[in-house]
Amino acid sequence: MDRIYRYVGVVHVHTTFSDGEGTIEEVIAAARGTGLDFLVITDHNDLRAKGHEGWHGGTLVLAGEEVTRPSGNHMLALGISEFISPDLTPQGGIEAAKAQGGRVFLAHPFYQGSALIDDPPLPWRDWEVCGFDGIEVWNLTADLHQVLGERPPARPPRDVLALATPNRAALRKWDELLARGRVVGLGGSDAHAERIPRWNGTTILPYEKAFRALRIHLLLRESLNGHLRHARDLVLEAISSGNFLVAFDHLYGGEEVLASVVQGEELFLPGESLPGKSKASVLRVDLPVTAGIRLIHRGREFLRRKGRNISVRLDLPGPYRLEIYLGDRPWVLVNPFYFGDHGSTDVTDV
Ligand SMILES: [Zn+2]
Ligand SMILES: [Zn+2]
Repeated sequence: MDRIYRYVGVVHVHTTFSDGEGTIEEVIAAARGTGLDFLVITDHNDLRAKGHEGWHGGTLVLAGEEVTRPSGNHMLALGISEFISPDLTPQGGIEAAKAQGGRVFLAHPFYQGSALIDDPPLPWRDWEVCGFDGIEVWNLTADLHQVLGERPPARPPRDVLALATPNRAALRKWDELLARGRVVGLGGSDAHAERIPRWNGTTILPYEKAFRALRIHLLLRESLNGHLRHARDLVLEAISSGNFLVAFDHLYGGEEVLASVVQGEELFLPGESLPGKSKASVLRVDLPVTAGIRLIHRGREFLRRKGRNISVRLDLPGPYRLEIYLGDRPWVLVNPFYFGDHGSTDVTDV
């Protein structure tokens, strides 16, 4: 059976090129120090990190832009070479990124702001847009800020990551969008190493801590070799195809989590389309620990089971995605397998 290569990294990170606390050198050092295979920096309306793209030790550093508008409609444009103006309309920004071969993700699409840091609501507002690749269903920083902002504590909680959780509204929206075609669910870090004034300037999430907490695990059929162009294309293609798991590795390292579908001798990865039902299709989930597994088909819970290894036969057309829990804590989100004809149409063509 096919060999699968796993690369663990972090997407959506800010440096002093915008409002992050760390210089690009410090941020790259933190990524190397935590052993990330790749890091994608996306400063607000800034592409200077592009000059640092390349291998830094074993870490592949890539740069994009978070196209940032004053009242929301933030989008991550990855794989671009030219700056995208935030003055463009949301649709215009998506098209400008796509015209350069870029990949687009709607950032923290349901962020309702936070009283903790006096952030206004910054959601995605224009849902008429088309042509984007995916949405952030879990933004480590914004989702934490939102929870903490409901009743800002006077002092930093002992374990701030105990409150980390994906965004329920974004997960619902993901299912709604999946009814129309392929959409990637991204886990973004949005690391800023921000200091919180009401906590006497305590840093809520240092870069190293953020880089160990929420990561994406790319599952590739090829290894990343030393050539920058090749590695960059493979990583960007896997991100925009959803060939990955979003793992809250802070709870338990997700390195041995694997979900795949087997059809005869063929193996399919998250984000891939499975041809019709000429052969039996069996979804396999293998975990390093017993966990709660929820299989969601077309937005509905199809199966819920506790275990370490499960095999389920898939019969119905449509997208199947997985949510994996440790106790009641969300741990891993798996991008959909697109079964049958469903996956062949892109959401942009609807
Ligand atoms: Zn943003
Ligand atoms: Zn951001």
